[in-house]
Amino acid sequence: MALLNQSVLVLNRHWLAIHFCTVRRAIGLLYTGLARVVDDSFQTHSFDEWRELSAARTDPEMIRAANFSLLVPHVIVLHSYARRPPQEVKFSRRNIFLRDHHRCQYCGRTPPREELTIDHVVPLSRGGRTTWDNVVLACVRCNSKKGNRLPEESGMQPRQAPQRPRWPVMLQRSSGQRPRSLWQRFVDDAYWNTLLREE
Ligand SMILES: [Zn+2]
Repeated sequence: MALLNQSVLVLNRHWLAIHFCTVRRAIGLLYTGLARVVDDSFQTHSFDEWRELSAARTDPEMIRAANFSLLVPHVIVLHSYARRPPQEVKFSRRNIFLRDHHRCQYCGRTPPREELTIDHVVPLSRGGRTTWDNVVLACVRCNSKKGNRLPEESGMQPRQAPQRPRWPVMLQRSSGQRPRSLWQRFVDDAYWNTLLREE
């Protein structure tokens, strides 16, 4: 059955794309409770929930077995422990951009994305750390003007003291994005969602 050999994107429990598997394998993982289906609105479903949901649908792409029909899953998330997207905002490039609204935290401008850098308020060379409360977006100009100086030395303070944001990031999707397939959304997001190491 061709449907069973189609590809399904597999996310790890941190919602990062890790590989593809066949629909057949995905159903095995769902059935044994090792994974959940991710739908277009990032809701997750257990095998039983997905089966119930499928029963109400008449899509042409349906996997039919003796005692149930299933919608073809496109994305699954492995969930040894996490049932929902992590509630704590991940320390990632994307989230720093979201938190700071693509705005240089020194001059307040919103230049093109490639002109924004991630600035250490207390420079690494002066003992600063790469943590939510020590990084802000800075335009190239402000970043080079500030150089390796401490805020008190340069007189350049971020407009807002940086801190870990509290919003649930998985739900924070900017509107006006070109619609993409559910797959593509995860694959494109890989760069922006890569966890930065807090150190
Ligand atoms: Zn600036």
